[in-house]
Amino acid sequence: MKSSPANRSRDIERQAGYLRPEHCTPPPPRSNSPHDMWFIRDGCGIVCGVITWMLVFYAEFVVVFVMLLPAKNLAYSIFNGVVFNGLAFLALASHFRAMCTDPGAVPKGNATKEFIESLQLKPGQVVYKCPKCCSIKPDRAHHCSVCKRCIKKMDHHCPWVNNCVGENNQKYFVLFTMYIALISLHALMMVALHFVFCFEEDWAKCSSFSPPATVILLILLSFEGLLFLIFTSVMFGTQVHSICNDETGIEQLKKEERRWAKRSKWMNMKVVFGHPLSLSWLSPFARPDHGKANLYQYVV
Ligand SMILES: [Zn+2]
Ligand SMILES: [Zn+2]
Repeated sequence: MKSSPANRSRDIERQAGYLRPEHCTPPPPRSNSPHDMWFIRDGCGIVCGVITWMLVFYAEFVVVFVMLLPAKNLAYSIFNGVVFNGLAFLALASHFRAMCTDPGAVPKGNATKEFIESLQLKPGQVVYKCPKCCSIKPDRAHHCSVCKRCIKKMDHHCPWVNNCVGENNQKYFVLFTMYIALISLHALMMVALHFVFCFEEDWAKCSSFSPPATVILLILLSFEGLLFLIFTSVMFGTQVHSICNDETGIEQLKKEERRWAKRSKWMNMKVVFGHPLSLSWLSPFARPDHGKANLYQYVV
């Protein structure tokens, strides 16, 4: 692929002969298999992650104990209880998978003499080394200062999931934003219905809590729902747009020159969510088959 070194001068990257592998310690013996547990020890990220779970639990509490259990219509309560709790479970499962999946970290410290020799570079061929984590940087990888690693197709570091969003966990992140947007919308609709029904009835019969406590709990839930509905649906739209165009958030920000093969929007979706289209696209438990989808990359 053609590119002039001047275009790539943003990072400190040198030709093979100047990589100075002697400055890199050999990589740790631990393998980087996708089955290994991945967790970033970042205080801010851990606090944001815990807050996310607590906000979902607060919404669960208000929906179940303030609105659904005291409601007189059993079918209404069961239907909405199943839908809301199912979506909340999928949101938390997606959050957990986004947080604990290796986003596509490049092996740390692999810029050793042996590794560079094993690449059998042709004269004039350029490889890039990250000066911060001493790794040979694949195309489209970026260094994250929170994860302290280079991440393949890094989109951004998200403190709410305490992880980078990259090649291997973008599906879980998109599902997380989608399920949070859906439970926010569902909660807002239930709060609106609750106010409509309870204004006609006696408030004391409408909730097992006192009327002022009920109103405060519902107003707090409405604020939370509205805030997160706006935030996560904008994030969801941005993510789907960047997946369709196969351009990460960082590449858009840096206005990087496009050096990778162009695929159809549909094929770009398959690369992230797996091939072929199935219900597993919506499941945070199904690992997308990136390899298979990549095989179809030239099919338009
Ligand atoms: Zn790096
Ligand atoms: Zn990161």
